[in-house]
This record gives sequence, structure tokens and C-alpha cells, in this order.
Amino acid sequence: MSWKIRKHFDTLTLQGDKTLLQPLALARQINLRYTENNQIGLSLDETTRYADVKELLEIFAEAKGKALDLSIEALTEDLRLDLPENLVRTSDFLQHPVFNAYHTEHEMLRYIKRLESRDLSLVHSMIALGSCTMKLNATAEMIPVTWTELGGLHPFAPQDQTQGYQALFADLEQWLAEITGFAAVSLQPNSGAQGEYAGLLTIRNYHLANGDTHRNIALIPSSAHGTNPASAVMAGMEVVLVKCDERGNIDLDDLRQQAEKHRENLAALMVTYPSTHGVFEEAIQEICQLIHQYGGQVYMDGANMNAQVGLTSPAMIGADVCHLNLHKTFCIPHGGGGPGMGPICVAAHLEPHLPNHSVRPVSQNQTTAVSAAPYGSASILAISYAYIAMMGGEGLTEATRRAILNANYIKARLEGHYPVLYTGTKGTCAHEFIIDCREFKKAGVEVADIAKRLMDYGFHAPTVSFPVPGTMMIEPTESESKAELDRFCEAMISIREEIREIEAGKAEAGNNAVVNAPHTAAMLLANEWPYPYSREKAAYPLPYLKTNKFFPTVAKVDNAYGDRNLICSCIPIAEYAASEATV
Ligand SMILES: *Cc1c(COP(=O)(O)O)cnc(C)c1O
Repeated sequence: MSWKIRKHFDTLTLQGDKTLLQPLALARQINLRYTENNQIGLSLDETTRYADVKELLEIFAEAKGKALDLSIEALTEDLRLDLPENLVRTSDFLQHPVFNAYHTEHEMLRYIKRLESRDLSLVHSMIALGSCTMKLNATAEMIPVTWTELGGLHPFAPQDQTQGYQALFADLEQWLAEITGFAAVSLQPNSGAQGEYAGLLTIRNYHLANGDTHRNIALIPSSAHGTNPASAVMAGMEVVLVKCDERGNIDLDDLRQQAEKHRENLAALMVTYPSTHGVFEEAIQEICQLIHQYGGQVYMDGANMNAQVGLTSPAMIGADVCHLNLHKTFCIPHGGGGPGMGPICVAAHLEPHLPNHSVRPVSQNQTTAVSAAPYGSASILAISYAYIAMMGGEGLTEATRRAILNANYIKARLEGHYPVLYTGTKGTCAHEFIIDCREFKKAGVEVADIAKRLMDYGFHAPTVSFPVPGTMMIEPTESESKAELDRFCEAMISIREEIREIEAGKAEAGNNAVVNAPHTAAMLLANEWPYPYSREKAAYPLPYLKTNKFFPTVAKVDNAYGDRNLICSCIPIAEYAASEATV
């Protein structure tokens, strides 16, 4: 028998009846893809073993009532010989030393640990990263992610094999609906930005269903996160910016004018609450009503839900749809790029327009999917599930209160040292606030210098220059103890003292511990110390550092230069050229 077969990549679609095949496959715990028009799909990848291939062939043979007259050795041999010539690799690959230096478990372990130790993370200190909500990712919440029962399931696995997941989805959807005050939830979007996109498509589909095919204007306040206008454009909308007033609130007159001007075509307002200025905007309900009055829908950016849960809700303020950054408010770890989850929650009138999925339908809706998988990155939903389940309603509300209290505590301690840019009418902030660092430019100190000097103090910088250039946005979250908040405040106050020394001429402008930060171990231990301040001041500006010191591994880099110039740490291109020449 000849095995000269046509070449395929990883997927085969076979024509055939599944009646006999499916039970045989199921009995061996194998899922194949069965379509309505009698097609059977199967995909193989680099994890598929010869034993798996043999088992598949046995199943097909048995379904046909034939004996499998092929030894696995013959199969192996044949397939190897049969690899198309043009696909056989002739060039070297993975030649960088990093791929060839660590060949034992010990070496690999140490290499990974070495990389980890260069990272100033939550294991060292609080990360007061405004808007990003870097809270505790509790171990108990994280453990289920390691279970193959959760991580080993294919997103299209038959529903009768995914009962546990179904229960998890149902509970989580119900809880998130309760938290937001909305009627329905889509667990499909994989990030906040994708949630925005999904939410805006939902709004667009709603307008289309109402015959309002022309509604395509999205009003967005100037303080919005950059993803807001980007998502609006991706969803086919046209962005119109709305001004903020001197208190950082949406300028109501401008909003009214814009809504009036675009009344015919108004699709949506995108608004963040509390605002990215860290304030519970008092006119929020009026703002939402205004948009509705002109036929628009209100999209609430849920990045700041950590200031709302249990106390207020997107539905209460009058929004129609919001996303939740489960990797911010609901404990999925983030930083370093994901994975996250950005489910959207909607009022009842938008439910029929939520994303569906053609392969694994999640509703009756006539809408397309926004993600490859029907429930996004389903396995990490278990983290948020565990968080909500363990906290309970009261616990979640208490967390919100403490998040707001912690922010106001830091604000109160720093106020005499740094100007706080925006507060509410009672002088308080929400769960985060912005300090203005622009006046230090006179002393030659940029906000980025403060961010880098914080590393010498063992702290990751708060959010820098968002949403206002030259400022810092501080968000402590509920997870930090008073001792840690105080340590952070003392570091910030000490840096302010160092800036005062420059202002007073006691430290040299342009050559001082603030602008030369961060100080690496290599700088501090070199024979040469060319700076007009002591090594001790550079490395140990506060006593706690003597027992708990993080040494940054990279000295000051020129951020803007780095952003504009691609620098590659690969083997010099000349070496590639040389090896090409020898081929
Ligand atoms: C984080 C954030 C987003 C985007 O969320 P991603 O999950 O990073 O895509 C949108 N708006 C605000 C205010 C945010 O802080």
C-alpha cells in the first residue's frame, strides 16, 4: 500500500459519516470536529505523538470495519521520507547564544531567576500605578489556573464535556451583572480595549437594528485613555473630542454643544467614571441623560471600577454598557502584557446585540464574534471567580472603601509637598489622584526623573504623564497596609526634599541624586565616583533601604530616544551576513 499522499499542513477535513466514528472516538476520549454536511475535521500539531496518529487510524479503521494493516514503524518511516523537499530546513536556526547556553534544569532555573531579579515587581513593593490597579493577586486565586481541568480544555470542546466551565461562566456573569447593575454579560473580550471595541459594536448593532444606520459619532472627553478613540475608530465611528474644565471635569457646556451639533448622528459617549483625573464627577448622571436625550448610548470605561464596586454602579450612573478590566479590578495579574480579560456588561436593550460565536454559539444573537474563542481566555476567569467568591458582597464593598481611603490617606500626606491636580468639591479624591510635577522643571527635574529616583528607593513608579503630561497618577489599591503606604509616602517626601535642595542651590542643578537616578550597583561600586553627593545618599537615602534594598540593573536611559530608535540585542547583523556568505 502506498502512502504517497497529498501534502497538508496541520488540518485535514474528511468526508464521511460520523455515526459509527463518533462513539468509537469518544470511547477513547478523542474529540473530532463534526460538521452538519458530513465532514470530519482533525488537527495535529507538534504535541501529537505517533501513538496518537495510530490511535486515530485505528478508530477510522474500526468504523469502516477494516483491520489496520499498518505498523507504526512503517508509518513513521514513510512520513519522514515523504516530507516535501522544499519544506526540509537547510539553514541554521535559534543560533543566538541565549538559545544554546542553558541546557540543564539548574542553568535554566538560574537564568530565569536572574531575569526575574532584574524586575522591580509587587514582590518588592507596592506599585501605585494609577488607572492600572495593581492589587494583590492572591495565591489562592491563582492556583486553579495550574489545573489541567481548567487549562487543558479546548475552547470548542463539546458542551456536555464542559459542565464545570458552564457553571463558572453562569455564576461569574451573574455576579458581574449584579456588580455593574446590568442585565447581561459577554465574557468574550480579552482586554479592556477589546471590551471597548465589543461594546461599541454592540451599540452600533443596536442603532442599526433601530434603522439608525447614520449614527456614527462617538463623543470622547479629552482626558480619556488612548484606547477609547482607537476602539471607536476600529468600530467604524468618528471621534469628536469634548473639553474638560479647569477642575478636570467634562465641560458640560461643550458636551451639550457637541451633542446638539451632532444630534442627528450621535452614536455614543465614552466616559470613564470616576474620571481618569481621579474624581467622582458629580454631573455624571446629568451627562448620561444628556446623551440619551440626543439618541446616543453611553459607554462607560470600567478601568476605574475599583472605586465603584458595591458603592455605586455603571447602571446607577445611567450608562448602557461598560467593560470590566478583570486584570485590574478583579485580580488577574497583569503587567508585561497579559493575558487579561475585558468582559462587557450591558443594559437589557443591548443584550440582543452582544457578540455571539459561529462555532460555539453562546446566545441566539445574530452577531459576529470579537474573539477567536467564545469565552475569551476562559482559564483565567477562574481567578476573578475565586476573588469574588472569597470576598463576597460585603468584602468587595469593603475593598472599594479601603481603596478610596488609602488614596485619600496618601493624598493627605503628600499634599504639603506636591500639588494635587484635581479633587472633588469636598477636596477628596476617588481611588487615585494626580500630583503635578511640572513646577520642578525650573529646578531641571522632570517627572521621569522622579519616577527613576523612586527605583533607588525600591519603588516602581506610579503612572507617569497619563492623563496629564508632566504629572504622576497614584493608585495604592486596598491591598496595601498602612506601613507600606507610609514607606511610599516617606520616599516621595524624601525625593521632594532632594528637589528642594536643588531649588535652594544646595545640590548642583543638572548633576544631583534625582536627575542621575537610578544608581546601579555598578555605578555605586566603581572605583570612580564622579558625583557631587555621597554614594550613601545615592543608594541609601532612607534608613529602611539598609535592610531592604533593590539595586536597579540599568542606569538612566533616554526614553524618547529608545522609543524612536529600534535597538536590537541580537547577534550583530554583520555576523548573519558572514554566515549567509558561506552558505
Ligand atoms: C487599562 C485601561 C484601558 C485599557 O484596558 P486594557 O485591558 O489595557 O486594554 C482603558 N481605559 C483605561 C482608563 C484604562 O486604565
